[in-house]
Amino acid sequence: MPDSTISDSPLPGLYIVATPIGNLGDISARAAATLAAADVIAAEDTRVTAKLLAHLGLRVPMTPYHDHSDERTRAALVARMADEIVILVSDAGTPLISDPGYKLVRDARGAGRHVTTLPGPCAAIAAITLSGLPSDRFLFAGFLPNKAKARADTLAEFAGLRATLVFYESGPRLSASLAAMAEGLGDREAAVAREISKLYEQCVTGTLSNLAARYADAPPKGEIVVVVGPPGAAIAEAADDATLDAALREAMAGKPVAQAAKAVAKRFGLDRHETYARALTLKEGG
Ligand code: SAM
Repeated sequence: MPDSTISDSPLPGLYIVATPIGNLGDISARAAATLAAADVIAAEDTRVTAKLLAHLGLRVPMTPYHDHSDERTRAALVARMADEIVILVSDAGTPLISDPGYKLVRDARGAGRHVTTLPGPCAAIAAITLSGLPSDRFLFAGFLPNKAKARADTLAEFAGLRATLVFYESGPRLSASLAAMAEGLGDREAAVAREISKLYEQCVTGTLSNLAARYADAPPKGEIVVVVGPPGAAIAEAADDATLDAALREAMAGKPVAQAAKAVAKRFGLDRHETYARALTLKEGG
């Protein structure tokens, strides 16, 4: 059962506090109460957090914090956690998720400080819930690298995973990233979730190639999460066994079995090993 109590006198230590990703109404009552009790807020950008504090009618001392802040800044914060309430926030959403904080949490734990988290908004999780794609197993992939080779290598690492993939993206990169995903992962079902919890929230679904084409000439504005379904999700709806077998036979007419299976798996977004096994069966007359 959820525990609805908010302690009157929170223990000293590190409090990791999630903040809204768009709609300020999404700040939790416990997050607001904990911010009000803070001795210091370690913020990714104090100007951004100042707006949240103003919205809540709070005045709390802040200090800038980044994982590339120097060791002394981090050590000073860890020292303060011994007898003060130190809060970690990022500009929006859950700290540490493509945001600073990991090293501060690591060092706080290393020093034996009390560490606790106040869960709340996270764009990756919100996008999964909007997408209509399988949510039982997912991999959070953060931002893809900018350079084409590094991006293709990263996608190749993910291609065989039987999991929904979640990427953070920006408007100008969106179409190229979707096209690279179609190439590297197969043309899977996907969703582009934009401006979640804001006025123009939108979630557009389709295959990766269709979405890449849709955004090619019209890069969208705002903040974006791309959710990509697991391998095989596309084929279940887009093609039946007969279509798959026909594609395998056609590919095997011009290529060795392994290469044919790889190409067909990629085309339909299927598991490579299973497609290879099916290709072998067909080749042996199955
Ligand atoms: N820590 C944050 C979280 O918990 O979601 C993420 C920080 S990361 C630096 C920022 C990225 O998250 C954006 O570039 C975008 O991909 C995604 N994002 C943040 N807010 C969003 C929103 N309201 N709608 C869609 N995507 C969002």
